[in-house]
Amino acid sequence: MVSRVIPVDPFDLIIFGGTGDLARRKILPALFRRFCAGQMGNGARVIGAARGEMDTEAYRDFVRDSVLEFDDNAECAAKNLDSFLNQISYVTLDARGDAGWSELAGLMMPGRVRAFYFSVGPGLFGDLATRLHEYDMADADTRIVVEKPFGRDLETAKALNAILARHFDEGQIYRIDHYLGKETVQNLMAIRFGNMLFEPLWNSQYIDHIQITVAESGGVGKRGGYYDKAGAMRDMMQNHMMQLLCLIAMEPPAKFDPDAVRDEKLKVIRALDPVPSGDVVRGQYEGTAQLQGYRNEVESRDTQTESFVAIKAQIGNWRWAGTPFYMRTGKRLRDRASEIAVVFKHAPHSIFGMEAGSHRNILTIRLQPNEGIELGVTIKEPGPGGMRLVDVPLDMTFAEALGDDQTDSPDAYERLIMDVVRGDQTLFMRGDEVEAAWRWTDPIIKSWEDKNIAPILYATGSSGPDDALMLMHRDGRRWREIKP
Ligand code: NAP
Repeated sequence: MVSRVIPVDPFDLIIFGGTGDLARRKILPALFRRFCAGQMGNGARVIGAARGEMDTEAYRDFVRDSVLEFDDNAECAAKNLDSFLNQISYVTLDARGDAGWSELAGLMMPGRVRAFYFSVGPGLFGDLATRLHEYDMADADTRIVVEKPFGRDLETAKALNAILARHFDEGQIYRIDHYLGKETVQNLMAIRFGNMLFEPLWNSQYIDHIQITVAESGGVGKRGGYYDKAGAMRDMMQNHMMQLLCLIAMEPPAKFDPDAVRDEKLKVIRALDPVPSGDVVRGQYEGTAQLQGYRNEVESRDTQTESFVAIKAQIGNWRWAGTPFYMRTGKRLRDRASEIAVVFKHAPHSIFGMEAGSHRNILTIRLQPNEGIELGVTIKEPGPGGMRLVDVPLDMTFAEALGDDQTDSPDAYERLIMDVVRGDQTLFMRGDEVEAAWRWTDPIIKSWEDKNIAPILYATGSSGPDDALMLMHRDGRRWREIKP
């Protein structure tokens, strides 16, 4: 089966912060891969902009190095990199001043989609939005893309939304959460809403609980300065984890269209019960003989920032009352492994007796590494000797059926950037969703700050603090093993 590349009209993508880490590691390699797939033809242009003094040639060298470092398709690079670079240029520009803006405005071409990627800190969003208008660069076809963190609490998120709303309609603002661009995350919606099989079972009557784990084995590394001001709750829980929870828990939207989907996600966030303090665990990793602990890495001996958080969340609505959602995320854990596990209830009566053991179905959506979806089903162990049961995984990504080009499917940034160009906001967060998510997480963070609660230390390479294990044990449940 050949993957379909839907052509897009010529577009201009202007990357503010075009020399930054995100541009280098994610945005530019993603664009190159779309170029290789034939989706960036027809005179599409990419313009990098930042304060650093350099000409277009020097920027093309920067882009070449980024692509060669972060894209592993050497064959494509050998064939296409020079042509790709011909579509790239650079403008030296200061978001906070007037330098460079007239030059950028002079490059704009009428009659094509124009997307401005704000790959800079949120402190510059207002300056960029204002200048785009002052220099008459924004029209009805203009889109802006903004990255996380979208605020650090409800108040700052509201302020950011207000700044952007001064110059752009909500339909022009693309708040990116790259988790939503993952193939399996979208497949989750296809499996839920494209089949008759699951939806009737998708409720508290049949589902015992849901686990969402986003585990990293690395520490904060070079991001310590940013991370220590955020912590796991702001960096992961408020955005990525809550978005995953929404897709699992939402009602079927009437249509797969941006507002229909986002309305349903918003309802889920609004239905979340406030979290009692006993249902949250926060932790901070200790060092080993070889690796520094969190405090040393961020160079702050008394920092109270959490590098791990686990929450038992309850959704107060008809579908989910009584089915807890256990979520955990952290750094320096046993492995880099992220998954959603939908754990179904036991069959009401076992006709096979005690010896057959205790079995139940688990639908696992693996996000990284090795994206894929698996349904654990119980079957008879082959061979003579009575009715012994065994759980086997049913691979629901069907790589074989769909062919090898499955592995070539675009990564999250590729897909999301192309969605911006096409004007499809389905996989982007709406302003009210972001605010609702902060409204839920703010009281949790505030209670830590008010009570000055220190995170619990946990060992590097573990599954997090023991208290997080207890969060499930006390309910007679257990976390799945963290493994790739
Ligand atoms: P970064 O490495 O610090 O890069 C910042 C970029 O902005 C540089 O190109 C910088 O170039 C430019 N810049 C700074 N001040 C400017 C100004 N006044 N006018 C014009 N350009 C200016 O940051 P980053 O890691 O790429 O992150 C960018 C945004 O994405 C941030 O909001 C970050 O939170 C978010 N994000 C990053 C990652 C990641 O993996 N890196 C992941 C998720 C979200 P000059 O200094 O030369 O101007």
